[in-house]
Amino acid sequence: MSLTADVVIIGAGTIGSSTAYHLARQGAGRVVVVEMGRAGSGTSSKSASMLSLQFGHDELMVRMAQRAYARYMQFEEEFGVPIDFRRTGLMVLATEASAAHLRRNAGLMQTLGIPTELLSPEEVKYRYPAIHTEDLELGTFGPDDGVLDAHMVVSGYVSKARELGAQVLEDVRATGIRMDGGRVAGVETTAGYIEAPLVVNAGGPWAIEIGRWVGLDLPILNSARSIVVTQPFPDIPSDWPFVEDVTVEWYCRPEGPGILMGMGAAPTDQTEIPFRREAMDDMFAAAIHRIPVLAKAGILTGWTGVRPMTLDDRPILGPVDGVQGLLLNCGWGGAGVMLSPVAGDLLARYVMTGEAAALEPFRLGRFAGVRTSDIHDLRILARTG
Ligand SMILES: Cc1cc2nc3c(=O)[nH]c(=O)nc-3n(C[C@H](O)[C@H](O)[C@H](O)COP(=O)(O)OP(=O)(O)OC[C@H]3O[C@@H](n4cnc5c(N)ncnc54)[C@H](O)[C@@H]3O)c2cc1C
Repeated sequence: MSLTADVVIIGAGTIGSSTAYHLARQGAGRVVVVEMGRAGSGTSSKSASMLSLQFGHDELMVRMAQRAYARYMQFEEEFGVPIDFRRTGLMVLATEASAAHLRRNAGLMQTLGIPTELLSPEEVKYRYPAIHTEDLELGTFGPDDGVLDAHMVVSGYVSKARELGAQVLEDVRATGIRMDGGRVAGVETTAGYIEAPLVVNAGGPWAIEIGRWVGLDLPILNSARSIVVTQPFPDIPSDWPFVEDVTVEWYCRPEGPGILMGMGAAPTDQTEIPFRREAMDDMFAAAIHRIPVLAKAGILTGWTGVRPMTLDDRPILGPVDGVQGLLLNCGWGGAGVMLSPVAGDLLARYVMTGEAAALEPFRLGRFAGVRTSDIHDLRILARTG
């Protein structure tokens, strides 16, 4: 196979497939996506599928979440596939250690018009008696947050992108980026060479490796997080919201007849990590502390995924100084599913217009001097003061 394209996207997760759809819709010409597995099989298949307005910690990211949320509310109309959004609400719980942060965040939400209630520990207990509230300082509740089907999201982007003429090549691995002087000439793949003046790195946790092909040390920290789904668990009713204990970064929500819970932020240099039941002690300790009845829960299944984090919890988007033709759409951390409609749109608009102002807060250059190996320590420093 030898192809010529206007844009090649490496990776068909929520971010790459959204980028492909938006480029095709905006008339970017021949758009080719190469995906080494099946579309959506990367970290996008490992998420907790949360669509949240409360997720961001700064105004820019919250506004992005509002735009993404609005797009998701129209997703079925735009893409013709159901994404099964369930408006469960999100309750965040904080002990003294993180109450000030949570209160600030709730204030930001309210200022930006996002319905957010502040709850005392007594109110939390009244609504959800199974929750241990003695050490809590504060709760917040956002009624509009909920859960969607991330597989259907990718499927919607991919099928619409194909309808609009994009090629999404599955089971094709990119193996290198060919350069001509200081600019991108094309992508080497296991199915042959694709000549293209523009290449998008949408590799999720693999973005670091793809960056190295052109000498970039992308400041992304891959961070492992596990999800456990319990056996059917009637003690927690299926109409419970998504509950997050923000102090220990543990969360849970109903999933079918069981409970899904997530936890973990361990730096890793692996991109695929086997799930180990025996390593779930911390997760169960956090679960049992916050919702003691979970001590009776048995594990049905689980998985471990990788979140590509940045230092400021904003993604890295746009061009790269010194590597002409390379575009980044990576570092989406723990929010790449929920923010994907905006992620693809922003990059496609840049390609079509060359107008970089909207990408300014996300550009790689803001991390000048930060190396991948530094981010873990710098993130800890940022949190501890
Ligand atoms: C446990 C967990 C829970 C999460 N919960 C949520 C949540 O509730 N809500 C939310 O919004 N986000 C959540 N996230 C984060 C979210 O999953 C990610 O931000 C998002 O999936 C990133 O999408 P992506 O397209 O950048 O990466 P990916 O989905 O990993 O896509 C990258 C793709 O690139 C492909 N690829 C890589 N290298 C190559 C190559 N050389 N050639 C060809 N293809 C290549 C991979 O196969 C992969 O499919 C969670 C993450 C984890 C791990």
